[in-house]
Amino acid sequence: MIDQNPDIRGIGMTSARTRDRLVRRLQDSGIRSTEVLEQIRNVPRHLFVDEALASRAYEDTALPIGLGQTISQPYVVAKMTEALLQGFEGDRVLEIGTGCGYQTAMLAPLVKEIYTVERIPELLKKTKQRLRQLDIYNVHYRLADGWEGWPKYGPYDGIIVAAAAPELPEKLLQQLSDGGRMVIPVGPAGRQELFKVTRKNEHYEQLSLGLVSFVPLVHGK
Ligand code: SAH
Repeated sequence: MIDQNPDIRGIGMTSARTRDRLVRRLQDSGIRSTEVLEQIRNVPRHLFVDEALASRAYEDTALPIGLGQTISQPYVVAKMTEALLQGFEGDRVLEIGTGCGYQTAMLAPLVKEIYTVERIPELLKKTKQRLRQLDIYNVHYRLADGWEGWPKYGPYDGIIVAAAAPELPEKLLQQLSDGGRMVIPVGPAGRQELFKVTRKNEHYEQLSLGLVSFVPLVHGK
């Protein structure tokens, strides 16, 4: 359902018709999950970027959100969400790299609880307000270094990481429940690969989902 609030519903370059074009494009690129495509249509991405960029919000491209960070490309968010939720049976997801909260908003209606960690206070503050305005209440926010995860509420059935790590973060692997999965880009700038890592007891199965480009998962708060 598209929202009745005109700011959220959008007009012109942010209208339902423009969003439908993006949905078709992602379908053509191989996104199959109907719940994910539905969320691409529903989430008002134009409210997650500066007003000056709103007319480009439904292009399949990453855009700057200030403070040297970006809102991820819709295809990549769709791909990661699809991989995270395929056969998903749990109810708790840890997200590292909240940023503007677009990925969080995509996931929110599809899982029970989201625990999200961001290291830049200004981003986290704005995102909290934005998601509340969109009536999203099943998200718990933490200002911290994502390399540490959020042990207090772990283990998690799913972990989704929106910044690239040089190697799989050990503490995040530890916070994955048995049978849980983590979707994470790994590698240096220009050579990052998206992985789905599934935990089977103390064994971690890795599946490559292709090449991607993310900002780095930096160390420290
Ligand atoms: N999820 C966002 C994309 C955010 S870009 C979206 O939907 O568009 C990646 C984010 O990861 C940035 O906001 C950056 O500040 C954050 N980040 C980078 N390193 C981090 C770390 N160690 N801990 C927490 N957040 C981190």
